[in-house]
Amino acid sequence: MFNFNYYHPVKILFGVKRLNEIGDTAANFGKRCLLVTTSDFPSSHIIKTKKVLLAKGLKVEHFDKVIPNPTVDIVNEGAEIAKKFKADVVIGLGGGSSIDTAKAIAVSATHPGTCWDYLYFKKTQPTSKTLPIIAIPTTSGTGSHVTQVAVVTNSNERCKSALYNSVLYPRVAIVDPELMISMPPHLTAVTGFDAFCHAFESYINPKGSPYTDLLAKEAIRIIIKNLPKAIENGENIEVRTQMAWADTLAGLSIANAGVTLPHGIAMAIGGLYPHVAHGEALASVYPAIMRFTWKYAKEKFAFLWKLFEPKENLPSINLEAYQACNALENFLKAIGLHKNLKNLGVSEDELDLLAKRSLTLPDYKNHPYIVNLKQVRELINQSYES
Ligand code: NAD
Repeated sequence: MFNFNYYHPVKILFGVKRLNEIGDTAANFGKRCLLVTTSDFPSSHIIKTKKVLLAKGLKVEHFDKVIPNPTVDIVNEGAEIAKKFKADVVIGLGGGSSIDTAKAIAVSATHPGTCWDYLYFKKTQPTSKTLPIIAIPTTSGTGSHVTQVAVVTNSNERCKSALYNSVLYPRVAIVDPELMISMPPHLTAVTGFDAFCHAFESYINPKGSPYTDLLAKEAIRIIIKNLPKAIENGENIEVRTQMAWADTLAGLSIANAGVTLPHGIAMAIGGLYPHVAHGEALASVYPAIMRFTWKYAKEKFAFLWKLFEPKENLPSINLEAYQACNALENFLKAIGLHKNLKNLGVSEDELDLLAKRSLTLPDYKNHPYIVNLKQVRELINQSYES
């Protein structure tokens, strides 16, 4: 059991008002900072970040064209700006889309071709020429601030895939829970459920270790307790801090254990239907996948049940594991994410294609039971109108 590897190179500055340290942090990597955000991002966060950077005497170029589920075209545009500006460091300020775009720009601006040429399975991989990356998450979330992953979408191929390499680990992650207060309730729910999925899938992943289990179990516990509170009152800084911590733990966990089947399907949904938020895609398939999976990871599902219902004793582990599926479905209802694929705008005509694409990324091979095409098609069917 105690035979595992664990690697993590990201320096984490965690806590309220740590954004004030972005000037000193960025100055360690040079003078020219490319700040990367979405276009609809709260201006107060941008103004504050720029102010701290400029006060340190740094030069700032702002690339604000990131879109949720960022595309290769957007990364190309950002990389051109990074090259022209001669950026020393790329700062991703925002949710996973901005951080991942910052990572992909850091590769694209320093290597030939586009970021799509450096996907996890390609022979050519990004090198140490990759620009240093600083991640400032404002959702809780994707854990991208502590992972070696950059998720990008190729619009022509309607395909969402990922770069995965150690050079993509941000050098520094500044996790300031004050930045998350501006998240509206639905965004809080969608991103918080993504963090839950990272933790739960790392935990049930046979490639997990005692180290990642420790991180994942704590993240799950915190999210179950705090996500409904964060949705109800987003201004509660203690609750936002707890969620930011859980997101970080879950990110640390996926960086070393990895995700499983639900992420494989959710990535395929995102590629075909970029308007669907990643957390919503996950929520739509979770109930069916949970009911399919509990018998292959009974202890772990029973652990989840006990977190949902600590006071209720059930007579068998089978019952506890099974009830975890119902408890998770009720949790989705409580946080407003109980939606099926049809509700999300997935076309019935493309369910076969979706099933096929769901088995493209290797995530499904890390599920406690490895599904075949027929089984994943059935799970998608169950998630369509239920
Ligand atoms: P996002 O970055 O796509 O942002 C969604 C929206 O929220 C945007 O419009 C953004 O401007 C807004 N927003 C962000 N922070 C806000 C704040 N504090 N206040 C108000 N509005 C705010 O959302 P996300 O869920 O964080 O990221 C999703 C992306 O991350 C997907 O592409 C997903 O595949 C990817 N992802 C990456 C990893 C990784 O390890 N790299 C892991 C999981 C998911």
